[in-house]
Amino acid sequence: MVQTATKLKVAIYVRKSREGEGGAEETLLTQKETLLRLAEQKGYKNPDVFEEIDSSIKWNRPELAKMIAGIEAKKYDRILVSHIDRLGRDIGLLDDIKKLCIEHEVIIETPDNVIKFDDENQELLFGFSSVLSDFEYKRIRQRLNKGKYDAVAIKNRWIGSIPPLGYTWDKNIKQLLVNPEEKKIVRKMVELALLGYSSRQIADKINQLGYRSRKGIPFKTDRILKILQNRVYLGESKYESKRLKRTAIAKGTHEAIIAEEEFNQIQAQFKSRISKENLQSLGIKSPLNKLLVCGICKKVMTIQLNNKVRKTGRNYSFYQIRPCRHQIDLDTKCHNGGLAIYKVENAVLEALKLYKLELEQTLVSLLAEDTSDIENTLKSNLEGLETNLAKQERKAKRLLDLYLDEELDKDSYQKKKKALEDTISALKNEISLIQSKLDSMDASTQVDKVKGIIDMIENFEEMELEEQNATLKLIVSSIVFTKTADTNNEPVIDIKWREL
Ligand SMILES: [Zn+2]
Repeated sequence: MVQTATKLKVAIYVRKSREGEGGAEETLLTQKETLLRLAEQKGYKNPDVFEEIDSSIKWNRPELAKMIAGIEAKKYDRILVSHIDRLGRDIGLLDDIKKLCIEHEVIIETPDNVIKFDDENQELLFGFSSVLSDFEYKRIRQRLNKGKYDAVAIKNRWIGSIPPLGYTWDKNIKQLLVNPEEKKIVRKMVELALLGYSSRQIADKINQLGYRSRKGIPFKTDRILKILQNRVYLGESKYESKRLKRTAIAKGTHEAIIAEEEFNQIQAQFKSRISKENLQSLGIKSPLNKLLVCGICKKVMTIQLNNKVRKTGRNYSFYQIRPCRHQIDLDTKCHNGGLAIYKVENAVLEALKLYKLELEQTLVSLLAEDTSDIENTLKSNLEGLETNLAKQERKAKRLLDLYLDEELDKDSYQKKKKALEDTISALKNEISLIQSKLDSMDASTQVDKVKGIIDMIENFEEMELEEQNATLKLIVSSIVFTKTADTNNEPVIDIKWREL
């Protein structure tokens, strides 16, 4: 139900127009009479009237101050003014009044309009836009928007109010700077995510390790997700302008904390996990959960409890791979057998150890492959080419000057210009070629990856079940299991390792 009009407490505010502003008719008296009549029509009883007598004092308006104090004291439900500009023409002041009205649910009424601030469009249509001309108002809004857009698009700058975890804002150079202590937390999250932890597991782990948010509270799952999905950590800044219907993205506006490759991997993992999250929370039964694939029909094999309770009452139940009876076509069913899961787990563990030896070999050869000499040569080549390019570009500019000063005729100018342009584009090609060679030579990321996996395998047996499962998913894409008459009913296990 709407509040009855009689219960609403109303303030009337009148202020004298400056000369030429409202015309001779709109004196204090007429303003007051109009508004009192309005109050009467609407059934508002006993309004408080605030009359600003002295119009010459622009910034000191005692009556307005009194009325504002009344709003703050929750005394009023409605403010009546003859026109919004009676309250003021200063945007800052109007904005304060607007906030106040929103906070205390006050509605402003004029003889023509009812201004409720809970509707943004209405504010634009009827409200404060009329103080300035409509055009001017829109232009200011546009400029504010465009300013932010340009800050990102042109000035390559992060904009925002609170720097993301891991960064502090340096207002002198207007740039995000890495906060070493907070960076540690973000990196820990990244590390765990790359290990295959879910956002919930990451939150648990981070909190267990004693890390807390800036406000000193434990991290929650959605916060972890937000951080790990925020491209600001790639050194990017973004501004989405709804008004301009454009998004500005600037790269390299600050130091990255997450590498692009890591970021992409984490997104892919999160995506593939969303559907599994529920299953995981039910508690998994084996590190091989969701990794076993039927060697015959290629469907995922499930792990089930084989209930065996002997007559003695002792429980001999164990987990097993459920025999695959998947319908292949109308008359054939898959006939892959099952097996106690611990047998497969042991086999996988053995395979992991062998795989680790293999990786250690890879690491040795990666490290032996000392590319620093070649890299240095390439780098000095690159430097030389860049110097040359700068020189040619200066030449091109000089050439234009000569032509403009008429010290060179058009024909020879164009000939020389063409020759220079060819040189410049050849130089640019060469530079990008060397650049890409240099990029591909960086063996350090590969070394880190291999080291990381060796590390995981070394710690595998000490991990909890869920962590083992997450780790395996990171190293192994699937474990193909076959046990049929063709294999003499012997289990055959084929582990598909993920590419490094
Ligand atoms: Zn099957």
